[in-house]
Amino acid sequence: MESEYRTGKVLISEREIYDRVGALAATIASGTRSKELLAVGILNGAVIFLSDLVRRMPPELDVRIDFMSISSYGNAVQSSGVVRIMKDLGSDIEGKDVLVVEDIIDTGLTLSYLLKILQARRPANLRTCVLLDKSEKREVSVPIDYCGFTIPDAFVVGYGLDCGGRWRHLPDIRAVTGGA
Ligand code: 5GP
Repeated sequence: MESEYRTGKVLISEREIYDRVGALAATIASGTRSKELLAVGILNGAVIFLSDLVRRMPPELDVRIDFMSISSYGNAVQSSGVVRIMKDLGSDIEGKDVLVVEDIIDTGLTLSYLLKILQARRPANLRTCVLLDKSEKREVSVPIDYCGFTIPDAFVVGYGLDCGGRWRHLPDIRAVTGGA
């Protein structure tokens, strides 16, 4: 049966995302003192954001990329609080300058769990960059070094974010309406 979910109005336009991602890339680059920056994208939601973000960083910065996948939401629209590593990093991060790139922070449970795991691997520096922050819903405090946009408590899709696997390809961020 087809899902009853529909995409609603555009909350953040393609142009706004483009401008903000450029500004974030510049701020991150100017705050990077190390020779090498490892950007860690959290699959699948951060793929598009990370791809755009690293391409806006200056060519002289040695940027590497890697990915991690942790389960949290599935098809539901509420945090389960259960997080599990589905795919780990391809390399050791000890002594490295690591930037965790995440699509959205809601309760904070996912990122908080992930940061504990990564911190235990003793990187030289561990920073976080999230595209969207639903700060109203925070249950645990998480250090966010770079944030794209603060948004109200709505379930959103587009620019990498999905609803049951759909709408990751949208170039903008839209609210989802309806439900089965
Ligand atoms: P948290 O653990 O902070 O509650 O949730 C973080 C994860 O929940 C995100 O990485 C994302 O997968 C999912 N999530 C939270 N809010 C939304 C939303 O509005 N839209 C989508 N597509 N995913 C969300």
